[in-house]
Amino acid sequence: MNPFQYARARDVHDALEAGRAPGASYVAGGTSLLDLMKLGVEQPARIVDVNAVQYQKIEESAEGVSIGALVRNSDAAEHPLVKGRYPALAQALLSGASPQLRNMASMAGNLRQRTRCPYFREIGSPCNKRRPGSGCAALEGYNRVHAILGGSSSCIAVHPSDLCVALVAFDASVHTERASGLRVIPMADFHRLPGDHPEIETVLEPGELITHITLPAKPFFARSCYVKARDRASFAFALASAAVALDIVGGKVQEARIAVGGVATKPWRCPESERALVGAPTTAASFERAAAASAAQAQPRKHNAFKVELLKNTVLRALSSAAGIA
Ligand code: SF4
Repeated sequence: MNPFQYARARDVHDALEAGRAPGASYVAGGTSLLDLMKLGVEQPARIVDVNAVQYQKIEESAEGVSIGALVRNSDAAEHPLVKGRYPALAQALLSGASPQLRNMASMAGNLRQRTRCPYFREIGSPCNKRRPGSGCAALEGYNRVHAILGGSSSCIAVHPSDLCVALVAFDASVHTERASGLRVIPMADFHRLPGDHPEIETVLEPGELITHITLPAKPFFARSCYVKARDRASFAFALASAAVALDIVGGKVQEARIAVGGVATKPWRCPESERALVGAPTTAASFERAAAASAAQAQPRKHNAFKVELLKNTVLRALSSAAGIA
């Protein structure tokens, strides 16, 4: 491991000051960063520990509910405001990693977690995300776990987070602080598509600190669910997942929210599927049409064509469960 400096921030000002240094990385739970440092994938010159900064609350806010950046994943998953108003969010959190990791991992860290592409984590392989311009071993390699949506000729790595899929479905916002002031980023815009620069994964500027996440208050978000398909029942990343919420009145869908994970290079909203449901009866046929729309733009690779059907079935199952017809 490379030598690095360690700084413990006492407050936000301290964190922003230390975080501005070239090569600095914030750390809270460390479940992602320290892992990547041990593999040699990340080599920060300075680690800024933000655990003493006061972003630890979950509370009602003007918009709906606010979740502090340093709230641990397990605490968020068990909080009554989250479980009661955004069940898909609690389910997504509980489907991720293991209890021990969820006890350590922070909300902000989850937003910034990096791909599980095996070539990214193996420093001997060409990888444009880890070493820009070196190529992409997955394009012609073993790409079973890779993306069928949002890929480019530079990178087809899947975004690994469950939490972020639910946050995109719920129209969440990410609040940050940087040297020039506060900013609010819609969750749908927080992660970037890989394009020609897969090494740049979010719109955050160097040293910009996530303070909290807000979720809008929409009563129908209580009718939501998260479904995750994976190789084993726990401690596995999604091969396909879906977070859905349905507003149902008189047996018809008034509004729908659908986002999918495990299949795309960023947490992926499905507007065509949502539009297909508006005004439709809550029947298997309606849900099958919406599920088919979620995969309409899919571009499978040599080893991951199975994800197209898996995605459709995962969305179908999530919609049926949310509507209570499963
Ligand atoms: Fe690297 Fe992306 Fe290619 Fe994986 S898919 S090897 S992360 S460039």
